[in-house]
Amino acid sequence: FDENLAKLDTLLTRFRQSGILNRIAGEDAAGSGGSFQTISPVDKSVICSVAHGTAADIDAAAKAAKQAFPAWRDMPATERRKILIRVAEGIEARAEEIALCECWDTGQAWRFMSKAALRGAENFRYFADQVTSARDGKNLPSPTLMNVTTRVPIGPVGVITPWNTPFMLSTWKIAPALAAGCTVVHKPAEASPLTARLLIEIAEEAGLPPGVLNMVNGYGEDAGKALTEHRDIKAIAFVGESRTGSLITKQGADTLKRMHLELGGKNPVIVFDDADLERALDAVIFMIYSINGERCTSSSRLLVQESIKEDFEARLIERVNNIRVGHPLDPETEVGPLISEEHYAKVTSYFDIAKDDKATIAAGGEPIGSEGYFVKPTLFTDANNHMRIAREEIFGPVLTSIPFRTEEEALQIANDTDYGLTGYVWTNDLTRALRFTDKLEAGMIWVNSENVRHLPTPFGGVKSSGIGRDGGDWSFEFYMEQKHIGFAT
Ligand code: NAD
Repeated sequence: FDENLAKLDTLLTRFRQSGILNRIAGEDAAGSGGSFQTISPVDKSVICSVAHGTAADIDAAAKAAKQAFPAWRDMPATERRKILIRVAEGIEARAEEIALCECWDTGQAWRFMSKAALRGAENFRYFADQVTSARDGKNLPSPTLMNVTTRVPIGPVGVITPWNTPFMLSTWKIAPALAAGCTVVHKPAEASPLTARLLIEIAEEAGLPPGVLNMVNGYGEDAGKALTEHRDIKAIAFVGESRTGSLITKQGADTLKRMHLELGGKNPVIVFDDADLERALDAVIFMIYSINGERCTSSSRLLVQESIKEDFEARLIERVNNIRVGHPLDPETEVGPLISEEHYAKVTSYFDIAKDDKATIAAGGEPIGSEGYFVKPTLFTDANNHMRIAREEIFGPVLTSIPFRTEEEALQIANDTDYGLTGYVWTNDLTRALRFTDKLEAGMIWVNSENVRHLPTPFGGVKSSGIGRDGGDWSFEFYMEQKHIGFAT
């Protein structure tokens, strides 16, 4: 822990001195709107100043991305692959630095962020290995034509990312875009700008030509909005709240922007009485209390069968009360502080909402101290699916437990939500698992497992949780255009 703190202090010196500038066409650039400050959620101290980008900076970055596009698109695939592999190696070499900055900037715990940094490298390595086949087409001959298809990159794209696991999520979008042959303008979340800066440094050191990846910091309503409206930007990959997704769809309409939206969730974990309850308990705890519960795929609604409810909840309460809340750089910490004052106010407001709804606060339900944005891991019981604590995305270490009697009732409750990102089903009855997952409205479902990502599989949600998929070839479908060419025979 002390070692981590000392290392962080050294790392922050450079940010304190220079602040975080925009990066356009391989050059640092101040924000045309001045600067703002990024605050650590651990102790509310100022970390450094950050360029406040506006429409003018987005315009410069989009022009740089447009200019760099033809050469990047036409670079031999093997060369592009080599650069992306070097980016992965650069991330691995600086993984500790990335994780330290991420913890301090976001409040997410070291034990998870050290893995998230390496997952960023994995994202680059995986998509680098797909570069050589990304443009492969099909041969679809007809009686009079030799029909072939090919895939070409769509052009410069915008990537807009949120503040939760910002480094990992940025690489998850930027790596496939670059592998496809697109150039990128990245607008990181205003609340967590540190590691986006590290990523662009690593990419340039790896040999990424100037203008292929550009970064403009700033707020959603000016820099973000300008990116979604820019004529030279052909597509927007967005990760964030559902209502922002709706807003940017409108903003992108005039330029007919292609959109990929990864949005919010209120994901159910359904525990039947025939499940392996020990393993289910571990997974329930992990999927809501890891990463501070600030995780789109978190299982924030527990649907537990009436016959096991009392015992399962009693064991849950004991475990929740033992979760270690603390400094995110302490390797022992399981839950760190929430990202910002605004988000802390939102999460803590649900403690009163739960009381008003007449649910029971079975664990937590209180802030911790006033030095940072810490809250106790919380469990609400005696809830039903009509309560706000069961319907709204709280996005913190807060779980709402709802009982059910039958499989039909569980399905009805699970699907009675605007969201549809993930679902988790615990049962040892295979036929029931097949029946249930077939009817469960979610883009991704795990049976007898927590969320374990395998990069070739599709990632995305249904209903208000998003539009589109990435992962594997689905990412290339988004960043590329299919082209048909018919040769008369
Ligand atoms: P947010 O929607 O407030 O912000 C996300 C990004 O959008 C930020 O960079 C912000 O500056 C930008 N933005 C805001 N308004 C904009 C506008 N009008 N035009 C363009 N850009 C704009 O989300 P957040 O609070 O940063 O992140 C938390 C949310 O993200 C949660 O709802 C969570 O579920 C969701 N999320 C989803 C996934 C997924 O894969 N489905 C993954 C992570 C997070």
